[in-house]
Amino acid sequence: MSRGATAVPEAGPPPVGHDLPKMPVMRGGGGAVASVDPIVSQIGIDILDSGGNAADAAIGMAAAVGVVEPYTSGLGGGGFFVHYDATSGEVETIDGRETAPGSFHDKVFVGADGAAMDFDTVVNSGLSVGVPGTPATWEMAADRYGTKSLNTLLKPAEMVARKGFVVDQPFHEATVDNADRFAKFPDTAKIYLPGGEPIKTGAILRNPDLATSYRLMRTHGADAMQRGDLGKAVVKTARNPRTAPGVSVPRGQMTMADMRSYKALVKEPTHSEHRGLDVYGMPTPSSGGIAVSEILNLLESYEERTGKQTEDLSEGEWAHWFAEASATAFADRNRYVGDVPGVPAKELVSQGFADERSCLFDAGKAMTRPVPFGSPDGSYEDCQTSGETTQVGAQDQHTTSLTAVDKDGNAVTYTLTIEQYGGSGMVVPGYGFLLNNELTDFNFTPVTQGVPDPNLPGPGKRPRSSMAPTIVLKDGNPWMTAGSPGGATIITTVAQLVAGVTDRGMPIGDSLAAPRISSRNGSSTELEPSLADGTVGEYLESLGHTTRKVDRLGNATGIRVHDRRDHEAAAEPTRAGGGSAMVVDPDWWRYLSKP
Ligand code: GLU
Repeated sequence: MSRGATAVPEAGPPPVGHDLPKMPVMRGGGGAVASVDPIVSQIGIDILDSGGNAADAAIGMAAAVGVVEPYTSGLGGGGFFVHYDATSGEVETIDGRETAPGSFHDKVFVGADGAAMDFDTVVNSGLSVGVPGTPATWEMAADRYGTKSLNTLLKPAEMVARKGFVVDQPFHEATVDNADRFAKFPDTAKIYLPGGEPIKTGAILRNPDLATSYRLMRTHGADAMQRGDLGKAVVKTARNPRTAPGVSVPRGQMTMADMRSYKALVKEPTHSEHRGLDVYGMPTPSSGGIAVSEILNLLESYEERTGKQTEDLSEGEWAHWFAEASATAFADRNRYVGDVPGVPAKELVSQGFADERSCLFDAGKAMTRPVPFGSPDGSYEDCQTSGETTQVGAQDQHTTSLTAVDKDGNAVTYTLTIEQYGGSGMVVPGYGFLLNNELTDFNFTPVTQGVPDPNLPGPGKRPRSSMAPTIVLKDGNPWMTAGSPGGATIITTVAQLVAGVTDRGMPIGDSLAAPRISSRNGSSTELEPSLADGTVGEYLESLGHTTRKVDRLGNATGIRVHDRRDHEAAAEPTRAGGGSAMVVDPDWWRYLSKP
C-alpha cells in the first residue's frame, strides 16, 4: 500500500546531502565521477572509495539520480551504458532502450481521421509508455562489469529516497512547468504537488514508495520489474492510467508478456578515428554514436578542403564549421538511422563518407536548409547527394548523463532518461517512480512523404534516440568520456564537448562550459545567449544562417583521463543549476610524484 511522499521539513530523519559543495571541475586520483547532482556524485565516490569499480559507481549513481532528479530518469525509463574494460581493453555498450509493446504497428499514433495524433495528448498517456529498460540495464551492467551486487549498489539511493533530500530551485521550477500535467494523475500530484501546489524550494522530499521499489530491486533484481510486482503495477498503470476526476487519457497496450520478454542488449559500439584518437559511441537504436562521429569526421574533411586547421579558426568560423557539420550529420541520421535492419552504420562513420559529404561545405556561405542526405554506399568520389531532404522532428531537452572512471582505468559513461521532464507524468501507484513517454520518440507518421522513414513505430521496436554517451581512447587507454541530456541537441552538445578538447585544445571544464551551438538541419541554427547576442551570431547571420537564441543547450558531464592516476572530472558550472564533479583523492600531486 502506498505511504505517499512527504515535503515536511520538520518530520522524520534529517535529509541527505544538503551540505555537499557543487564543484564543476575536480582533478585528482583514485577515480573520478561527474553527474548533475552532488548527492549522486558523492554516492559514486563512496562506491569507488570502498573498492567498487566504474560500473558499480555508475549503477549506484544512476539509482540516486532516480531519487533526486526523478523527472529526468529512473526505474520507469531506459538508457544507454558505454563501458571500457581496462583488463580486456574493449569498449562495449548496453542498449537499455524502452521497447514498444508487441501489438504496435506503424499507424498506432495515427487517428481515425488519418492524421498524426496530437503529440501532447500522447505524451501524457499510457500509449507513450515503453517497456522500461533501466532495471535490466543495471542488472546486466552489475553482472557483466561490476564487482558489487545490486543489493549493495542500490542501498544508498534507497536511503536517500527514505530520508529525503532538499528540493532546489531548478527542481521547483521543473515542477511548476509540469504542474498541469502532474495534476492529471493523483499519484503524481501526491508526491510533487503536495497540498495542490508545486513542491517548494527548500522543502524536504521523501519518497518511501520509491524506497520500496529499490528494496524490491535489491532483493529480486530486474525480475522485480519483468516478472514481479513492479512490472505488474507498471502494466496496470500504462493500460489503465489512474486519472483525476474528469480527466481521461489514451490507454496503453503493454502486457506482462512484453515485460517478460524485455532484454537489455549488449552491443558493439560505433567506432571512428579522430585526430589519432578512437571515438566509441552508442549504436542503433541511438543515432548518437553515428552522428557524433560524422560531425567529427566532417571537421577533418573541411580542413582538407579549405587547407585551414580548426585550431586556427576564429570563434565565428568555428561556429559556422560546426553548424554545417552538424546539419549534414542530421540529414543522414534522419534518413538512415533507426531500429531497423541494414542501417549503414559503418559507412556513415567512415572518413570516406564524410569527405564526400564535405563537398557541400562553403567556408563563406551557409548551406541551404534542409541539407540533402548523402549516399553511404561505400564508393566515395564526387559529390553524391540524393538531392532529397527529410524534415526535422520536434525537439525537447531532458534526460541525465553521468560518468565514472576508476583507479584501474575502467570507464563508464551512461545516459538515461524517461524522455520528457516527468516522462508521461504518471507515477506508478505505490511505487513512487514516473513512467517514461519514450514511445513519442517514434515518428508518428513518415516525416517526409515518399522517403523511407526508419523511425516509425513497430512491434517490439525501440524508438530512435539521440543519446550519445561517448568514450574516447588514446593508444587503447581512456582519454575522455562525454555525455549530455537534451534530446536531439545531445548530439551537438557531445560533439562540441569532444571537439572543444580534441580540436580547440581546451581543458575539458572549459569545453563543457563554453557557449553552445546546435544546428540540426532545421530552418534555424540555435545559439546560447552569449553567442546569439555577440559577434558570433552576427557573423553567422552574415553567412546566411538563420539564428535563434535559446536559453541553454545541454547539461553535460565528462572526464579527461590524463593518466591512470590523474583524472579531471567536469560537470556543468551553471546550466540547469550546475552539476557536480568529484574525485576520490583530490591530492593528486601525491600520485604524480610517485612513479
Ligand atoms: N528521448 C530522448 C532521446 O532518446 C532523450 C530525452 C531528451 O533528452 O529529450 O533522444
